Amino acid sequence: MLNSNDTICAVATGNGGSISIVRVSGENAFSILKRCFSPIKRIKNAYAHGRMMYGNVYDLNGDTLDEAMAVCFYAPNSYTTEDVFEIQMHGGDMSAQAVLKTVMALGARMAEPGEFTRRAFLSGRIDLSEAEAVMGIVGAKSQSARRASVRQLKGGVSAGIGKAREALISLVALISAATDFPEEIDEEVTAQKVIEKSEQVVRFLKSVSDRKHARIMRQGASVVLAGLPNVGKSSVMNALLSCDRAIVTDIPGTTRDVLTESVELNGVRLALSDTAGLRDTCDAVEKIGVQRAKDALENADVVLYVLDAAREMTSEEKENLSKMDERYIVLLNKSDLTSVITFENAVTLSAKTGEGMEALTDRILQKIGAADLNEDIMTLPRHIECAERAISAIERALEWVKSAMPLDFAANDLSEALNALGDITGESMNEEVIDRVFQDFCVGK
Ligand code: GDP
Repeated sequence: MLNSNDTICAVATGNGGSISIVRVSGENAFSILKRCFSPIKRIKNAYAHGRMMYGNVYDLNGDTLDEAMAVCFYAPNSYTTEDVFEIQMHGGDMSAQAVLKTVMALGARMAEPGEFTRRAFLSGRIDLSEAEAVMGIVGAKSQSARRASVRQLKGGVSAGIGKAREALISLVALISAATDFPEEIDEEVTAQKVIEKSEQVVRFLKSVSDRKHARIMRQGASVVLAGLPNVGKSSVMNALLSCDRAIVTDIPGTTRDVLTESVELNGVRLALSDTAGLRDTCDAVEKIGVQRAKDALENADVVLYVLDAAREMTSEEKENLSKMDERYIVLLNKSDLTSVITFENAVTLSAKTGEGMEALTDRILQKIGAADLNEDIMTLPRHIECAERAISAIERALEWVKSAMPLDFAANDLSEALNALGDITGESMNEEVIDRVFQDFCVGK
């Protein structure tokens, strides 16, 4: 890690926008700003906290680099808690690079990835999980992922973890008191308390660290359309997407590959895949499609098995459905025609008229457990790993206590659980963990 007292700078915006922002943080920020920027009009308190100034940015020779807006944020009321200024200039890379070069010539150094946010963390303004939430917002792929990250940024994850840590700290203290003063504190009563509280903490940690829910919040759920050719899979997919990107045709077997599209239902992202019809075939190209369809089916969160309700089920369909598991939703498509089949618990719909589509979307959301995807759950694998480490340590502690072993044994495991939870918020100040978190950030964040 480079010197944390340096004044750092970076382009904070991505390429291609119509505005670029150069951000500078550190004790020399304002002296640098005053040497490369001047407001066009003389205004009273021009450099006041949070005030936008319209002016020119200059290089060291006094040549104008661009017209720009500049704003100062005074320590500690800034993103990093240090003196910070930002210059907004015309977009495109050249202007921002020229300003960056000037700012560096005036003594700032290029920021490391995530260094602005790291400074906010090191100064205690935010904890580690909140720092990661910033990245979560930037990288969110659905509104539910964004909402979960905002909740995390506001301390949603930290608050629950903080409570769990407090409970564990009080248990370690209780065990230590019981060991030090065996005459005054009843070991049986203490053991009972340790069991109760520990089990409560394990229940809480399990409820917020479900891997499948986290993945769905972060990346979305995979929904695969399956069924024989010509039953209407592409039509159902199109109806779900409300667009016409899949090829709809009445020649069996034309969807030869897996076609995946993204759609958002109630804020939850779905990766919808239309597969090649699952049927035995000799055609080499179609065979590959069928294999890919089988792979997609295996990894799906939800399988929409489409039947053509206007014709009898084939033996192949019956066989496929005999192997269905809890991920399946059976669709009786073409309800606008005369229906000749029924199937227990199936969704009846017509991709052609749109009838039954609402029932279908409700069922999909129900299948992926959308109601459980509340914004307090952990979405990051790193947090879940830490929670799982804590859960195993607490479960070990519970085993010691339940088998009437000395309570100190349990205290060791409970302390280990505390450290694991401390890694989520960064309270344990584990350098390696902190470095790992910030290495994934972009420069300028
Ligand atoms: P896939 O091979 O399973 O993807 O089936 P397609 O979506 O290509 O549809 C096969 C044929 O069934 C096409 O002629 C569609 O127009 C027709 N089709 C699909 N859904 C419906 C429906 O709900 N009602 C009716 N009447 N025809 C449909």
